[in-house]
Amino acid sequence: MDCVFSGKVWSSGLFVAGNVSVCGDRVSPSAEASVPHVDGGSCFLLPGFADVHVHLREPGFLYKETIRTGTQAAAHGGYTTVCAMPNLSPVPDTLEHLRPQLEAINRDAAVRVIPYGSITREEKGEALADLEALAPYVAGFSDDGRGIQSQAMMEEAMLRAKALGKLIVAHCEDNRPSQRDQFPRPPGHLLRVRMEAHPAGSGAGEENRLRLPRLPHLHQGKRGPHPTGQGPGAGCNLRNRPPLSAAG
Ligand SMILES: [Zn+2]
Repeated sequence: MDCVFSGKVWSSGLFVAGNVSVCGDRVSPSAEASVPHVDGGSCFLLPGFADVHVHLREPGFLYKETIRTGTQAAAHGGYTTVCAMPNLSPVPDTLEHLRPQLEAINRDAAVRVIPYGSITREEKGEALADLEALAPYVAGFSDDGRGIQSQAMMEEAMLRAKALGKLIVAHCEDNRPSQRDQFPRPPGHLLRVRMEAHPAGSGAGEENRLRLPRLPHLHQGKRGPHPTGQGPGAGCNLRNRPPLSAAG
C-alpha cells in the first residue's frame, strides 16, 4: 500500500468524509495506519474522468497542441482517459497512418489515450477508411467536424463498425444549403406568422400566446434606482444586484 488519502469520498450516491487506501493504480476503502497519510481536507475524491472528444493535434499540428501537453492538461483537470479525434496529419485512416500517433501516445501520454480512426480516407467522405485494421486500436470512428454526405457510405460505415463492435461518432450534418439560408427571414418572422394565423379570441391563439417565451428578466423586473442613477438600463433588476466582491 502506497498511502492513505482522506477527504470527501463519493459513496452510494453521496459524498461522505472518509479514507481510501492507494496501492499502485488501485484504490480501496480500507485504511492502514502504517502508511503515509495524505490529508485531502475538504477536497472531493472522485474517480478519474473520461473525455471522449479531445483534440491532441499530434501528429501534424504540434504548434497547436501535443500529446504530452494535452494529456498533462487532462491529468491536471482530473481526466485519466481521453479519446483523441482523428483530424490529424496524417489522418489515421490506415494502420500505417495511425502508427505515428500510437508511438507518440506510448512515448509521451500522461493519461490513457484512446484514438479515433477516421470513417473515411483523409476525412474526405469519398472512400471508407480501413476500419477493420484500425478497430483493435481505436475507440471508434469519426470524421469529426465533417459530415459524411453520402447516405450509402454512412450506412456501410455503420454496419461495418457494428460488426466490429465499435462506435461511429459523427457530425450528422448535411452540407446542402438549408431552406433558411435560401430564404433569409428577419428575426421574429415565424413568431409573427403564428400570431396572425391565430388571432386573439380563438383558442389556438390563446394557447400560442401562453407559449410565447417570456422576455428576459432584465426587462421584467420592478423598476428601482440604477446604481449610477442614470443611463438607459436604469431600474432593471440585473443592474441592481450587489456587485460581487472577494469578501462576499
Ligand atoms: Zn472536435
